[in-house]
Amino acid sequence: MPHLTDPRPQLTERLREHGIGPTHQRIEIARALFARMTHLSADQVLAAVNARHAETSKATVYNTLKLFVEKGLVREVIVDPTKVFYDPNMAPHHHFYDVETGEITDIEADRIAIGGLPSLPPGKVAAGLDLIIRIRSGA
Ligand SMILES: [Zn+2]
Repeated sequence: MPHLTDPRPQLTERLREHGIGPTHQRIEIARALFARMTHLSADQVLAAVNARHAETSKATVYNTLKLFVEKGLVREVIVDPTKVFYDPNMAPHHHFYDVETGEITDIEADRIAIGGLPSLPPGKVAAGLDLIIRIRSGA
């Protein structure tokens, strides 16, 4: 019954591997993201963490997510300045974003070939390239 396995020891180790001190609240915030392996906004993380006991403040959730991004535990997907998702999938990939439903889904990196990229400025290397394809219902 793998769904009954307590994920906290693995999450504790994962936080330590990224140089993040595993406090109770950080483990719960990581659990919200990694248990579902889906994209969540900070407000959705807050709701998930506080579903049983309202114990974590919005500021703690925001600061913890910022730390997770800085330490490379999760990535930020900025759809627009008011819509930021936290993504536990660190493998290179792209996204569909449905502008009508607000739903965001993964596109595997190798399903998109991007041609015609300019050469990089001298002394620079590519740190990443990710696309958001915005979709809506057709006619
Ligand atoms: Zn993703």
